[in-house]
Amino acid sequence: MKVAIIGAGLVGSLAALNFARMGNEVHLYEYREDIRTAELVQGRSINLALSQRGRKALAAVGLEQQVLATAIPMQGRMLHDVRGRTSVVLYDPCTKQCLYSVGRKQLNEVLLNACEKLPNISCHFNHKLTSADIREGVMQFKRAEEHITASADLIVGCDGAFSKVRQHMVKAAGFNYSQQYIEHGYVELCIPAKSGEFQMPPNYLHIWPRDTFMMIALPNQDKSFTVTLFMPFKNFAAIKTPEQLLEFFNKFYADAVPLIGEERLVQDFFKLKPQYLLSVKCQPYHFSDKALILGDAAHAMVPYYGQGMNAGMEDVTLLTSLLNKPLKLQEVLEQFSEMRWQDAHTICDLALYNYVEMRDLTKRWSFRCRKWLDTLLFRLFPIFWVPLYNSVSFTSMPYSKCIANRNWQDRFLKRSFAGALLAGLAAYLGALYFRGLHAS
Ligand SMILES: Cc1cc2nc3c(=O)[nH]c(=O)nc-3n(C[C@H](O)[C@H](O)[C@H](O)COP(=O)(O)OP(=O)(O)OC[C@H]3O[C@@H](n4cnc5c(N)ncnc54)[C@H](O)[C@@H]3O)c2cc1C
Repeated sequence: MKVAIIGAGLVGSLAALNFARMGNEVHLYEYREDIRTAELVQGRSINLALSQRGRKALAAVGLEQQVLATAIPMQGRMLHDVRGRTSVVLYDPCTKQCLYSVGRKQLNEVLLNACEKLPNISCHFNHKLTSADIREGVMQFKRAEEHITASADLIVGCDGAFSKVRQHMVKAAGFNYSQQYIEHGYVELCIPAKSGEFQMPPNYLHIWPRDTFMMIALPNQDKSFTVTLFMPFKNFAAIKTPEQLLEFFNKFYADAVPLIGEERLVQDFFKLKPQYLLSVKCQPYHFSDKALILGDAAHAMVPYYGQGMNAGMEDVTLLTSLLNKPLKLQEVLEQFSEMRWQDAHTICDLALYNYVEMRDLTKRWSFRCRKWLDTLLFRLFPIFWVPLYNSVSFTSMPYSKCIANRNWQDRFLKRSFAGALLAGLAAYLGALYFRGLHAS
């Protein structure tokens, strides 16, 4: 089969590897130049949290250990309050699982290098898909001033949140699609290394929760931290001058100011406009046996669960397992859509919810109590009671099962709590009654 993969990002290059390992002729088309030789790579988030689903997909193509060798483990969240005091909430105190901070560029390089080693993958950089006839498998690309036509048996859109392939699928009858921009955007800042060392403990995902907005920082291999400030667009718009910016930071993130450095803070903050965040849901993910979308093209999500890339890589794991079955291609694609859409919609919703947890709930005693209870029950019944965060980040349990689990756990705790309250009340009333009897 001749397979055209559009987009050589994290999901596209992984999909290319999998299709090629099954013996297909693969053409990988990428709009940008080859990131391995590009001097400046523009794009979203410099580093990403890699968790179980992404690791499993990388392991399947023999790349997990290579990626982990340079990744930085993050054992939990380090919370910074407004006074600069820190506290740690471990992700998994029982089995000590952690997230890994990986550089987007390094990870993409590892995947592209692996693609290049396979003779049946041809990489076409600087090729922008401009239109496609998905019924006929014909694509038009633009390379500089040149227009190129190509064809394939199967077109796989891994071209991100604004997918061109998806734009063509939207026109097909029966294709459901919705997108949601949130009112919060983000800017990226940097805490550089100092004397060749990290300026904060490296093995944590640092969070500065501030109710309606927050800042996070992930460690990089060069001992710097990539810092991301998430905030409503109206708050960004209110900061117009360096003085206003420093006043804002000294009020809410005073401990971070000397780490970033005032000059660098001003320079980085005003360098780019705040970026938009988008959540995309659609269904199905295929058109006949001719086209398919994966990764952000199929289910872009806000980044608060650190699952966008992981979920996109898990798409590839599922697709590969179906392709290895003795099924016709159309059946494979139908089953893929059917098995994936509910899970993808669930993680899009969970990602939206996790913003509230990160920026607000993590500070509350009720959240910490629940975390403590979850940890205790997980320790006692590791198979029966898997907390939501653990099931999402450290297992491959379908996302919809993760949320179903959480729902019965909530119900169980509510009933146990109500039962304990009732029992306590009954015991108290009983004691009062017997004291009354004694007295009379
Ligand atoms: C701030 C932020 C932080 C994030 N943090 C995490 C995290 O910690 N963990 C996590 O799992 N996920 C995270 N994500 C999500 C993650 O970045 C995405 O889910 C992931 O990049 C999706 O990969 P993809 O290959 O599907 O799409 P993309 O990475 O968007 O790649 C799409 C590729 O297609 C190319 N392309 C686009 N249009 C065309 C065209 N017309 N023709 C040819 N090529 C085209 C693009 O140039 C690009 O190379 C984060 C996202 C953001 C915004």
